[in-house]
Amino acid sequence: MPELPEVETTRRGIAPYIEGQEVTEVLVRQPRLRVPVPDDLAERLVGARIGVLKRRAKYLQIPIQSTDALEGDANTTLLWHLGMSGSLRIARVGDLPKKHDHVDVVTASGYVLRYHDPRRFGFVDWQATDEAQDKRLAHLGPEPLSDAFNGKWLYTLSRNKRVAVKPFLMDNQVVVGAGNIYAAEALFMAGIDPRRAAGRVSHARYDALALAVKEVLAAAITQGGTTLRDFVSGQGEPGYFAQRLNVYGRHGQPCLRCGAELRRITLGQRASVFCPGCQR
Ligand SMILES: [Zn+2]
Repeated sequence: MPELPEVETTRRGIAPYIEGQEVTEVLVRQPRLRVPVPDDLAERLVGARIGVLKRRAKYLQIPIQSTDALEGDANTTLLWHLGMSGSLRIARVGDLPKKHDHVDVVTASGYVLRYHDPRRFGFVDWQATDEAQDKRLAHLGPEPLSDAFNGKWLYTLSRNKRVAVKPFLMDNQVVVGAGNIYAAEALFMAGIDPRRAAGRVSHARYDALALAVKEVLAAAITQGGTTLRDFVSGQGEPGYFAQRLNVYGRHGQPCLRCGAELRRITLGQRASVFCPGCQR
């Protein structure tokens, strides 16, 4: 499943090909995604220009600048979510679509933004004009790589919380992007037992945890940049990248730091692997 690092890698990979480009054609081969593709997608995109791509949590945000004077400043933004199996790649005009290539956004430069999604849990939709009013974005916690996400934030938010620290960290209202793999790895790096009550983790240890989350996500984004180097058609897999992991998926194996056997437990309905030697 594409996680925040894959979405960020996608943003960086496709941006150079489509930013500033005028849309000349939109092809929807399969409109039935998780949310139906908007009926007015082609009508509003063709003739408009693509702005600077952004990302919020796992949503890719594609601003559309209308060049139609009649619409005035009716600039708007497309929200694209990759769901369970979606990927956005760059094709060239004339590249034949493969199975599950559902949407093409063709630009004047001859590059095509092509959406592929075998399971169709992803979607493309208009974002609310006021981002703060969009129900998909309004309640999200801070971006993990922003300054707003830090030990103080975690410490303040967790006081008197009895929920275990791992599900606490994975809560999208606490921080976005700390999925199961990244939460497990960050807790290992910070030496915190995933079962510990969130309200019983000290400020200093939350400082370490926030840094670990940033480190593990930044490493994944860097890794993704090398794994998914080529976003242009035909080369490279639209797959997702595997990082070198310390604990996730390694239960029963020795801890790379202390040699103790890594344990797997279930926390908040999710498998959790940790080191009983290093994490307290
Ligand atoms: Zn250990």
